Amino acid sequence: AGAVIRIKNFAHPISVARKVLEEIPHLMLSGKGAELFARLMGFREISPNEQYANTDDREIEKLPEDYREFVRKYSKLLAEQRTFSTVGAVAIDSKGHIVAGTSTGGIAHAFPGRVGDTPIIGAGTFASRSAGASATGLGEGILRVSVTRKLVELVEGGQAVQEACDRVVEICSERGFQCGVIALDAEGNAGLSHNGFFMPTMYSRFD
Ligand code: ASP
Repeated sequence: AGAVIRIKNFAHPISVARKVLEEIPHLMLSGKGAELFARLMGFREISPNEQYANTDDREIEKLPEDYREFVRKYSKLLAEQRTFSTVGAVAIDSKGHIVAGTSTGGIAHAFPGRVGDTPIIGAGTFASRSAGASATGLGEGILRVSVTRKLVELVEGGQAVQEACDRVVEICSERGFQCGVIALDAEGNAGLSHNGFFMPTMYSRFD
């Protein structure tokens, strides 16, 4: 696995994450180290205006002196959030190798420095020899449940991939947060489930 967090001014952080997977023994790089690694790998830097990010250093400067007021206000907005911008993919090749990838701009109304579920292996993204999964929704909830790891373990335990998707989303609903998942098992069967928000999905098969 490979992941990067807090990386700025690169157009496709997930491509840098893939290089982490391929090139170094670590699983995750963050901040300036991730940016240095991206440069070393030959990725092109873009200007801040060309990228999309919900919370950046400019917002840190805007933080009110009474940060508790900020946290109260934004915690409420965070819990009410209903739109998610994460992009996820799960694929299996003809040899049965399963991969999953997830990339996000994060969420709105987050405290600067917040890390969501997306780059955390087993939370927003997970793949084993048996199944792979990608999640979207409220990161704070997805992290607590370890949604994609749980989903894959359910498949490993004998559940059909669609049932496993439904089960993890049911757990998220019981806990009161929004979540959506896509998944594939080792036979290429696809599953998807989400609890009620707009989540466009696509499935393709190339024989
Ligand atoms: N899961 C992402 C996060 O919490 C948000 C999303 O799915 O769009 O950072």
